[in-house]
Amino acid sequence: MPHSVSSNDGDAATAPPFHIAIIGAGIGGLTFAIGCRKNKVSYTLYESAAKYSTVGAGVGLGPNALNALNMIDPKLRTMYDDISSGNLTPNKDHVMFDALYAETNFGEDRGWQPAPFGASSYDRTSAHRVDLLNILTSMIPPETVRFNKRVKNIVQGAPGEKVSITFEDGETVMADAVIGSDGAKGPTRGFVLGDRWPEEVKATYSGKYVYRSIIPMADALQILGHHAGDAETFLGKDVNFITFPISRGAYCNLVAFKFTRGQPWTHDQWTKRITKEEMLADFDEGVDKRLVKLLDWADPLQWSLHHHINTPIYYNDRICLLGDSAHATTPHQASGAGQCIEDALVLSHILGQLKSPAGLTKAFEIYDSIRRPRGQNVVKTSQEAGELYSFNHHECGDDMDKIVANFRERFLWIWEHDLQADLTKADELLAKATTVSK
Ligand SMILES: Cc1cc2nc3c(=O)[nH]c(=O)nc-3n(C[C@H](O)[C@H](O)[C@H](O)COP(=O)(O)OP(=O)(O)OC[C@H]3O[C@@H](n4cnc5c(N)ncnc54)[C@H](O)[C@@H]3O)c2cc1C
Repeated sequence: MPHSVSSNDGDAATAPPFHIAIIGAGIGGLTFAIGCRKNKVSYTLYESAAKYSTVGAGVGLGPNALNALNMIDPKLRTMYDDISSGNLTPNKDHVMFDALYAETNFGEDRGWQPAPFGASSYDRTSAHRVDLLNILTSMIPPETVRFNKRVKNIVQGAPGEKVSITFEDGETVMADAVIGSDGAKGPTRGFVLGDRWPEEVKATYSGKYVYRSIIPMADALQILGHHAGDAETFLGKDVNFITFPISRGAYCNLVAFKFTRGQPWTHDQWTKRITKEEMLADFDEGVDKRLVKLLDWADPLQWSLHHHINTPIYYNDRICLLGDSAHATTPHQASGAGQCIEDALVLSHILGQLKSPAGLTKAFEIYDSIRRPRGQNVVKTSQEAGELYSFNHHECGDDMDKIVANFRERFLWIWEHDLQADLTKADELLAKATTVSK
C-alpha cells in the first residue's frame, strides 16, 4: 500500500492488525488521528488541501468537549487551556453568555439587565480556531499525513473486505476501513447513505446565514464598552449577534446571524459575496448601531448554515462517518466541534480494542449506537435554539424571561454527559459481540 504508515507507538516488531484511512484533517479528523495514536491504531490521514487549514474565527468548547480532549490525551487539554480565553470580567467563569436585546440600548430602555446563563459545570472558554488546529496538528506525525489528496471515489469490496479509495490525481489506495471526517460537504457521506437514503446525503439549508469578523479588542472595547470583553448574545427578531473574547483577550470574535425564514438558499456555493451596503441592510432595522459598527471588520460574505438534520446511519460496512460529515449542525449551541471530539474519543477507543480487521463493521455498529442518538439530538436541538435566539420559538416568542429560563436548562444534557459511561458501554457491547475476536 503506498504510504501505508503505521502510527503505532508500540513494539515495532508487531505489525498493526489493520490500517485505517482517515479522510479530512479538520477538528474531527485530527482529534481522531490523535486518538488512533493513543490507542495504537494504524492510520493514514488524507487531506484535499495543500496544507493544514489556517482560516477560521472563534470556537467555544463546552465541558463535554474539554473532557473528551482530556480523555483522548491530557496534553491536549493542557495546551487548550494555554490558548483559550474566558470572560474578561472577574467572577464570570461559569457564564456562557449574557443575554441582551439587539435593539438600541440593548433593552436598557425597557429596563432589561444583561441576563447571564451557564452552569456551575460549565467554564466559559473560547479559542481562535487556528490556535486550536495548531495544537492538534502539533500532535500528528508528518509522515502519517498526505496533503493534496482529494477523494473522488470509495469502493467497498465484498462485505467485510478492504475498501479502495481513489483520489482526483488518479491514485488508488486500499485500507481496511475508511473514516470520512471530510466535513458537511465531503463525499464520504454519499458512499455511506447514497444507496439506501439518497435524500439524506446533502446537507439542507437551516434558514439562516452569518457574517463573521475578528475585531482587535481595543476597538471592540471602544465600541461596545465592557460588553466586548465578555461573551454576550444580542437577540432580536430574525437577528442574533454573538461576541466573545479569543486569543487570550486580544481579539473579540463576532458572529452576526440573519434568519431568512421560509426563503431557500439559492446560491450554488455556501458562501456568497455581496456588497457592504447589502450586508448592512440586513441589520438596518431594530439593531443597535454599535453592533452594526462591528461589521466594519467583517468581510461582506454570507456564510449559509447547512445541517444534517437526519442521518439514518453512520456507517456502511467498512466506511464510517465522523464529525460534520455525520452531524453537521448549526452553531447555536456551540457544540459542533465538541461532537467531533466526542466521536473521535469513542471511535478511537473502540478501534483500539480490536485485534483483527474482522471486527471493524461490528465496531462501527457499536459506535453508531452510542454516538448517533446524541449527535443527531445536538443537531435538532441546535435548530430549536436558533428559533429562541431569533424570537421565533413557538412557546417563548420574544419573551426574554422565558428564553433565558430555557437557556439555563437546555445545555446541561450536552455539557454534563458521562463520556466514561460511553466507553464502558462500548466495551460491554464489544465483549458481547461474538464476531469480534479480542
Ligand atoms: C459560524 C460557526 C461557528 C461555530 N462555532 C462553534 C463553536 O463555538 N463550538 C463548536 O463546538 N463548534 C462550532 N462550530 C462547528 C464546528 O466548526 C464544526 O462542527 C467543526 O469544525 C467540523 O469539523 P470537521 O473536522 O468535522 O469538518 P471540517 O472542519 O469541515 O473538515 C473537513 C476536512 O475535510 C477535507 N475534505 C473535504 N472534502 C475532501 C475530500 N474529497 N478529500 C479529502 N479531504 C477532504 C477539508 O479540506 C477539511 O480539511 C461552528 C460552525 C460555524 C459555521
